[in-house]
Amino acid sequence: MLLIPCPWCGLRDEVEFKYGGEAHNNRPLVPDVHDDTAWAAYLFMKKNPKGLHLERWVHAAGCRRWFNVARDTVSNRIDGSYKIGEKPPAIAAETEESA
Ligand SMILES: [Zn+2]
Repeated sequence: MLLIPCPWCGLRDEVEFKYGGEAHNNRPLVPDVHDDTAWAAYLFMKKNPKGLHLERWVHAAGCRRWFNVARDTVSNRIDGSYKIGEKPPAIAAETEESA
């Protein structure tokens, strides 16, 4: 069982959450200026790392808010969560930059 720390509700069981994909992969603000290659990169080219990954989750059966989680994809260890718009925990940022 995975316990996910919602920034508003605290530690809760994973059955209350839905996965939302890679964090910090923002939709282009001006869609018309991007060509097919840029759209394909946005839609399909995900990091899929072996190790620490920054992900988006929603607390679907709780507060219904979106937030980001720093999770190790190998061990499922969660190093922290943070609200949308905030910077990731220091340990996650260092690992993501070196990858
Ligand atoms: Zn919540």
